[in-house]
Amino acid sequence: MAAPKVAVVGAGVIGLSTALCIAETCPSCSVMVLSDQFSPNTTSDVAAGMLIPHTYPGTPIHVQKQWFKETFTYLFAISNSAEASEAGIHLVSGWQVFKNTPKEELPFWSDVVLGFRPMSKAELQKFPQHRFGQAFTTLKCDCPPYLLWLEKRLKATGVQMYTRKVADLWELHSKYNIVVNCAGIGAHQLVGDEKLFPIRGQVLKVHAPWVKNFIRDGEGLTYIYPGIHRVTLGGTREKESWSLSPDPGATKGIFDRCCSLEPSLRGAQDIKVKVGLRPSRQCVRLQREVLSQGGVKLPVVHNYGHGAGGFSVHRGTAKEAARLVGECIAALQGSSSRAKL
Ligand code: FAD
Repeated sequence: MAAPKVAVVGAGVIGLSTALCIAETCPSCSVMVLSDQFSPNTTSDVAAGMLIPHTYPGTPIHVQKQWFKETFTYLFAISNSAEASEAGIHLVSGWQVFKNTPKEELPFWSDVVLGFRPMSKAELQKFPQHRFGQAFTTLKCDCPPYLLWLEKRLKATGVQMYTRKVADLWELHSKYNIVVNCAGIGAHQLVGDEKLFPIRGQVLKVHAPWVKNFIRDGEGLTYIYPGIHRVTLGGTREKESWSLSPDPGATKGIFDRCCSLEPSLRGAQDIKVKVGLRPSRQCVRLQREVLSQGGVKLPVVHNYGHGAGGFSVHRGTAKEAARLVGECIAALQGSSSRAKL
C-alpha cells in the first residue's frame, strides 16, 4: 500500500495536536488538516487553557488521569525549553478555594500537578468567605500562541492545512484512506451526534499584570487565570445555548465575582469579552468507526467532545487517536495484501 493519506477535520487544539501525533508516530503518512476555521477563530482560542481537569462522568478515572498526565508531562517539557514563550506555555501557582470542605479533599489529579497541599490558615485569610483551600502549581497555555506554535510544528513536519467546510465525512473517501474527526461542537451537525451539546462560556480577557497567582472558586464558575500577557476572568456555563453574542449582564456578573475574590482587579484595564461553545458529552468520543457505501469502506477515527477540559487532556487523547489511526493503517495493509493473494 502507498503512503496512507489521512485527513484531520478541525483545527482547534484537538485537531492540531492529533495531526501532530499522527505525523510523529507515522512519518510515512501524508497528513492534511481540513477546517472551516483556524486560529484565532476557534473555541480553543477563547479558552483560558488552564491544566485543571474537568471530570467526564462516562470515562473511567484512570483513563482521564492518564490523558492528563501525558498532557502535563508534554507541556511541562515545553515550559522548560527555549520554546516556552513562543508556545505560550508557563507554570502558574495559586489556589482553589471552597466555601465548604469538599467531599473529595484529594482530586484524582492531585499527584500530577506540582506541590499539591491544603492551604494554611494564614493563606486562607486572603479569602474571608472561604473555609478550605488547595494550593498547587500547574501549567497554562496561552491559547492563540499555542495553536500557532502547533501549526508551525505541523508545517515543519510537512502537514498541509486547507480551509474547507466538510458537510459529510463521506465526501473525503475518494481522496483519503483515513479520516479523523476533530470537529469539536461542529460534530453535532457533521456526524449528527445527539449526545453532543454546547455549554456556552463567556470570559473576560483583561490587562492586570500585577495578578500573578491563579484563583479558582471550587465550584468552578468563578476563576482568575493569569497568562503571559492577559488575565482570563470567568465565567459562565449555559447548557444548550448556541449564542456566540456577548451578554453584558454576564460581563458585569463575572467582573463583580472575580473582584470579590481579588479586589485589586477593580483596576483592570482593556477588558475584552469572548464567548465559546464547549463541545460537551458524557465522555470524549475517541473511537474507530468504518463508514461504508456500496461496498466501499472509509475508516474514521473520532476525537471530539472534550467539553470544559480540552486543553487539560489534549495530548493524551491525541496520542490515543494516533494509535487508533495506526490500527486503521494495519487493517488497510492487511486487506490490501489479502487482495493481492
Ligand atoms: P474547537 O476549538 O471548537 O475546534 C473545532 C475545529 O473544527 C474548528 O477549527 C472548526 O472550525 C472545525 N470544524 C467544525 N466543524 C467543521 C466542519 N464541518 N468542517 C470543517 N471544519 C469543521 N479547557 C481547558 O482544559 N482548560 C481551560 O481553562 C478551559 N477554559 C475554557 C473556557 C471557555 C470560556 C471555554 C468555552 C472553553 C474552555 N475550555 C478549557 C475547553 C476547551 O476550550 C475545549 O475543550 C477545546 O477548545 C475543544 O477543542 P476542539 O479542538 O475539540 O474544538
